[in-house]
Formats: sequence, structure tokens, C-alpha cells
Amino acid sequence: MSENTPATDTDVLVVGAGVTGLYTVHKLRTLGYRVRGFDRAADVGGVWYWNRYPGARCDVESFDYSYSFDEELQQEWDWSEKYATQPEIMKYLHHVADRFALRDAYTFETSVLSAELDEESLTWTVRTDGGETVTSRFVVFAVGCLSSAQRPNVPGLDSFAGVSYHTGEWPHEGVDFTGLRVGVVGTGSSGIQSIPEIAAQAAQLTVFQRSANYSIPAGNKPLDDAQREAAKADYAERRRLARLSGGGSPFTTYPKKTFEVDEEERRAAYERRWELGGVLYSKTFPDQLVDRSANDAARVFWEEKVRARIADPAVAELLVPGDHPIGAKRIVTDSDYFETYNQPHVRLVSLRKNPIERVDATGVTLADGEHIALDALVYATGFDAMTGSVDRIEVRGRGGRTLKEVWAAGPRTYLGLGTDGFPNFFNLTGPGSPSVMVNVILAGEQHGNWLADLLQYMDAHGHRAVEATGDAVEDWVRECRDRAEATLLMEADSWYLGANIPGKPRVFMPYVGGFKVYQDVIDEVAASGYKGFRLV
Ligand code: FAD
Ligand code: NAP
Repeated sequence: MSENTPATDTDVLVVGAGVTGLYTVHKLRTLGYRVRGFDRAADVGGVWYWNRYPGARCDVESFDYSYSFDEELQQEWDWSEKYATQPEIMKYLHHVADRFALRDAYTFETSVLSAELDEESLTWTVRTDGGETVTSRFVVFAVGCLSSAQRPNVPGLDSFAGVSYHTGEWPHEGVDFTGLRVGVVGTGSSGIQSIPEIAAQAAQLTVFQRSANYSIPAGNKPLDDAQREAAKADYAERRRLARLSGGGSPFTTYPKKTFEVDEEERRAAYERRWELGGVLYSKTFPDQLVDRSANDAARVFWEEKVRARIADPAVAELLVPGDHPIGAKRIVTDSDYFETYNQPHVRLVSLRKNPIERVDATGVTLADGEHIALDALVYATGFDAMTGSVDRIEVRGRGGRTLKEVWAAGPRTYLGLGTDGFPNFFNLTGPGSPSVMVNVILAGEQHGNWLADLLQYMDAHGHRAVEATGDAVEDWVRECRDRAEATLLMEADSWYLGANIPGKPRVFMPYVGGFKVYQDVIDEVAASGYKGFRLV
């Protein structure tokens, strides 16, 4: 800290105790900064604190979906399955919080309501719903891209007399659906993970599907000691490959494009990816998300595999998407999802053909007049993604302008990190960065490390404040848009584009250049003395 540093209650105020916030708190504290954290949850975990629905697990392999910053930590932790369940991930995050005493920095069960810039001192005043006011030199949001649950806007929703739940706000004590007539609305990752588990308990299950989705078997399996030892022995290499990749996990695409190989080789490549499981299928070949016919070839292979899992061809017809390229929405990683519809007590209702007209005390009435009686309703309807939790906080920068106003036509950032008019304010792993397109734990470390370097640079050079320039923001917004527009990602009504939220501007929010390319960009900015930022 230089002599010019204004007096504040803390140096850095971090909002969020998910994987990103926890790492950032740890990193900055290790460097000697005073750090205070807040989370509206009662404990650490973020997404994994809130999403306790049956079947919740990661879709990036556990060895990779874990912190890389501490060798002892990665050597001492034993993952029990290829894709860890939510309870195991929470156990891991509790272990991390204990090991590095991270809870000490946080005030839990407290929402941050506002952050206001003092233009003179270039410090921030943060207010919470606990009535606390904290001044801080820096404000860092690690509020999560998928932390603002979204319920459908259907007439009569509140009149339902049975029990209802959103997957992203699941009760801690769990839910027993035994003997109940259950309705699940939504067939994204949360719906597709929970539907087989709910079906195993419910007397009757009705799934209300708006859009059919691409899902691929996880091929989840228990890990044995030999597999754990092998992975740990090679952890440094595994992480090195992950950092060189587009997705932040140690897998690369096939070395040739889709039609540079013959049919036999192509099918063998798809087959191998299929066996690998889940979301990686979207990048089997390097051109799959940019070339329509390459995408079609991958889609046709998917369709063959999936139709073979569904007994009734009429149901299969409803479950096969026809409205978007494969991978343009996040591919779901499932366990026996499509087979669930072969059970006699499970029914699929296509809302495209027969929308919900209203909910009443006893169930749901469809447009064709049918009434479906229900005891429980599960909303697996997703999130106001990427901007929802940012928007809920009143962030007031230069001239009293709010971030919400500045982002009204879509998020505007430089490198996803800074916005002009908001000095010393950072939003981590959010819009304008690789974020949800990659392994988010590594993305959190990437941002935490970059931020730590910047703060140290500022202190070493006696800088009080840092602010992205308007030009840098303009250029980055254009770069993000151009990159997304060169892909098929623009052709799906996805939450990446805000399409799931009525009225939200249609802007592709994450940076699609990939983990390694982005790392090179932000490293180069740092090496140049932070070009694109104005240092005061
Ligand atoms: P979060 O974990 O969302 O944490 C943000 C925290 O900020 C929350 O605890 C929230 O309570 C708090 N907060 C927000 N606003 C306020 C406020 N105003 N005041 C106080 N506190 C506030 N990504 C992967 O890479 N691999 C996966 O396998 C994977 N699986 C997922 C499974 C589910 C069910 C979901 C929903 C997402 C998954 N993701 C996955 C994406 C996930 O968002 C990231 O992996 C990661 O957990 C995000 O961490 P975070 O710390 O950035 O945000
Ligand atoms: P989601 O992908 O947005 O899916 C929401 C589902 O609800 C979609 O099927 C959507 O249909 C439907 N829906 C939304 N509003 C509706 C309405 N008004 N009426 C009817 N249906 C409606 O949300 P999610 O499943 O919670 O997943 C969000 C993201 O979190 C994932 O993409 C993934 O990144 C992450 N996640 C990962 C895992 C994992 O496997 N590790 C698990 C859960 C979540 P449309 O498609 O038509 O919009």
C-alpha cells in the first residue's frame, strides 16, 4: 500500500463464496491484503450450496473440476467418482474452506445490496441487508453466472397447493417424492440430471418440455485407488494440458476437420468421444461449432444413438431437438435420462405442441384443456444467467450511473474484468470472459491470479485506482461479438444469449475464444503495463 492510499475499512471486498470468491479471498489474503467477503448463503459453496436437487453432479471430470493452485490439496483429496455428486463437491469445498481458514473472511447470510463509488477518493461504499456499511478500495464481484434462479411466468403459479421447488434453491433437508404425482418443468442440465432420480421415487412423473435438448451419457463410474494414483502422479501434466486447451480441461479436438477423414474414421472419433462422456462431444472435431455440415454429421450420429435408447418412436420424435445445432446450447451429461421415458409411470408433454395454460391448486391445465393433477412441481427452469446476480446489486459508478444502466443493451466490459466508469471494480468469471464456456474452477483461478498481479503492480507503482478505458471496452465488446458471430452458437435460443429471459437483450455474453487464447490476451495486457486500463 502506498502512502497515498485512502483509509478504508478493508482493501478488497469480495461478494460471493463460490469457487471463484473463495480462491480470490485466499489469494489476496496470502499477499497481505485485508479482505472481507459476503455471501447471502449460510456457508461456502456457491452453486454447490444452492443446487442440491437429486442427481446434481459436475459435468467436468472431478480431477479437473477442482482447484489446481495447491499441490498438497490436489494430492490429499480423493474423488470417489468420475463426476462427483453435489454432496461430495460440497465436502471438498468445506475441506478447502477449513484448510485455508476462508470462512474467517466472510459474513454469511448477508446480501450485498449496493456499492457506490466516491469519485474523490476513488473508493467504494458497500451496503448490506444486515445494515452494515463497509468502505473498500476495491470491490470484486464473484456473484456467479448461474446464481439467480428463474421461475416461469405462468398464470396461477402461486395458487398451487402442493409443494414446489426450484432446482437452484433446493431444500437442504432433501425432498421425498415417494408416492407423489410430480411435474418437472424444464429439460436443461438440471432437469435432465434430476428427472431419472425423481422418476425412481414418484408414483407418476410428468415432464413438461419446452425445447428438446442434446444429452449424452456421462459414463459416470466409481474411481478406484489405481485410477486416483495414476491421475495424481500425472497431475502437473493434466493441468498443463488443461491450461493449453480451449475448455480448461485436458482434452483437445480431433486433429483433423470433420470431412478431412473418411466415414469410418469419423464414426470412430465420435464413438471415442461418446465413450468419454458428456459435454466434450460438442468439440469432437474442431469445425463442429463453426461449420453447419460438420455439425450435422455430429448431430446425426447423436440421433442414431439416442433414438435407440427410447422405446416409443413418438416419444423419441419429441425428444430429438430440431431447432438448434448440437452444442449451441450446453450439451447435457446424463445418467439414463432417455431410458426414463420407457417407464410406464413417466410421461412427456411437449409444451411447444400443448403449452401450459395455467396452474391451479391441484395441478396444471394444458392448452388443449387437459388437467394434470399434481402433488409436487419442480421448476428446473434455469437462471437469469451471467447478469442476473450483478443486476440485483445497485452498483453506482462515475456520475451516479448504475452498472445496470450501462449494461442495459448487454454487458460491456474490457476483458470481462473492468468497465469504464467503474474504477477499482471487477466482475470475475462473468460476461466478456471464457466463464461458463470452460471449466469454471480454473477460470476462477485465472481471474483471481490476474487480479492479484494487478493489485500488486498498482501498489508497487503507487497507483490508487485502475479503470478500463471506453475505447478498450468498445474494442473488447466488438471482439467478443465478432468471435461469437463466427460460430453456430448464435443459432440457439440459449441462456448464453439471454434468450430464456423475456425482454433480455440478445447478446452472446461469454468470450468464445477459449481458455488458452484468453490467458494469452490477459497476460499480454499485464505485461504491457495494463494497456486499455487507465491507472491513476
Ligand atoms: P457461484 O458458485 O454461483 O457463487 C456465487 C455466490 O455469490 C453464491 O453463493 C451467491 O449466494 C453469492 N451472491 C450472489 N449475489 C450476492 C449478493 N448480492 N450478496 C451476497 N452474496 C451474493 N461449471 C463447470 O465448469 N463444471 C461443472 O460441472 C458445472 N456444474 C454446474 C452445475 C450446476 C447445477 C450449476 C448451476 C452450474 C454448474 N457449473 C459448472 C457452472 C458453475 O456456475 C461454476 O462451475 C461455478 O460453481 C461458479 O462459481 P462462482 O464462484 O463463480 O459462482
Ligand atoms: P437451463 O439450461 O436454462 O434449462 C432450463 C430449462 O427450462 C430449459 O429446458 C428451458 O427451455 C426450460 N424453461 C425455461 N423457462 C421455461 C418456461 N417459462 N416454460 C417452460 N420451460 C421453461 O437451466 P439449467 O438446467 O438449470 O442449467 C443451466 C446451466 O447450469 C447449464 O447449462 C450448465 O451450464 C449448468 N449446469 C450444469 C450441470 C452439470 O451437469 N454439472 C447441472 C445443472 C446445471 P428452453 O430450452 O426452451 O429455454
